[in-house]
Amino acid sequence: MRTSSRYRAAARMIAAIGVVSLAAACSGNGGATGGGGTGGYPDQNITFVVPFSAGGPTDTVTRMIAEPMAAKLGAKIVVQNVEGAGGTVGAGEVARAKPDGYTVLMHHIGMSTAPSLYKDLGYKPLEDFATIGLVTEVPMTVVARKDFAPKTLQELVTYVKANAGKVTLANAGIGAASHLCGLLFQSAAGVKLQEVPYEGTGPALTDLVGGQVDFMCDQTTNTSGQISAGGVKAYAVTTPERVKSLPDVPTTTEAGLPKLQVSVWHGLYVPAGTPQDVVQKLSEALKAALADQKVIDQMAKLGTAPVPATAATPQAHRAKLEEQMGTWSKVIADSGVKVS
Ligand code: ASP
Repeated sequence: MRTSSRYRAAARMIAAIGVVSLAAACSGNGGATGGGGTGGYPDQNITFVVPFSAGGPTDTVTRMIAEPMAAKLGAKIVVQNVEGAGGTVGAGEVARAKPDGYTVLMHHIGMSTAPSLYKDLGYKPLEDFATIGLVTEVPMTVVARKDFAPKTLQELVTYVKANAGKVTLANAGIGAASHLCGLLFQSAAGVKLQEVPYEGTGPALTDLVGGQVDFMCDQTTNTSGQISAGGVKAYAVTTPERVKSLPDVPTTTEAGLPKLQVSVWHGLYVPAGTPQDVVQKLSEALKAALADQKVIDQMAKLGTAPVPATAATPQAHRAKLEEQMGTWSKVIADSGVKVS
């Protein structure tokens, strides 16, 4: 299969899946142990690893919940960005960290896609991590540099088809949400574009505002501020409903590209083998953070919301991860996209 048709096949399958909904089913959390003796946890700083650049959407959500989680846990939380390869570098580092609850990973949908995309990933999501809980599910937006010629999503499709060799599409690396959404756009538009990978969409957005790249697809948690300030042009949101904080931005369905449907779920992880009571403490702290009015307001401003308390649990998160890994492995196998 040629690369362009692989991408189209991948995106067709992604389109078939549509917007991912939260499945709050209960199952065991295979990665945690029943070990005890951690009553004093936490008695030192906790590091939250973000596998993308500072200032991007994953980083933003992490920093939002870190403060109220730290208050609940009674320990300082330090956010560390370990970016690279669509989030797989940071995830790998946490997989190999000591399973003591002091190294925690924030990751998104990419946790479920990476095993099917990378031949030598170096970690297994279900075996090397214990899940803490889901955090939020974020709509995406199709945005462009403000002086990019197309004015609507339909015009964008026409324009990229006519200028496929020239147009640049930014993303945060293979398996990143922006990469997956970009595949979907290219399939829906029937075109293969030149992709420009960054280590996160924080720096990609900076380049978009600066006019160095033409367009990208990214979470509202990253793009909302620049859309409202006029720093970038927004064509559509990738969910069935408009986003309350961006009332003037049409949905992809309204804008004539109904197959472009995707949203990005996030969750917290610790290395497998972390004692069960530590996992529980982190999960309780996550629940408290997601019920914090300041967090709810901050998320609403950026077009998203915390998951319900029933989804901020190790069991619901693991069920979601399992379901998503199954879904994406089929999508990616059918697409033929592979990174060695
Ligand atoms: N939005 C990025 C992505 O495409 C991740 C990030 O920079 O936080 O997955």
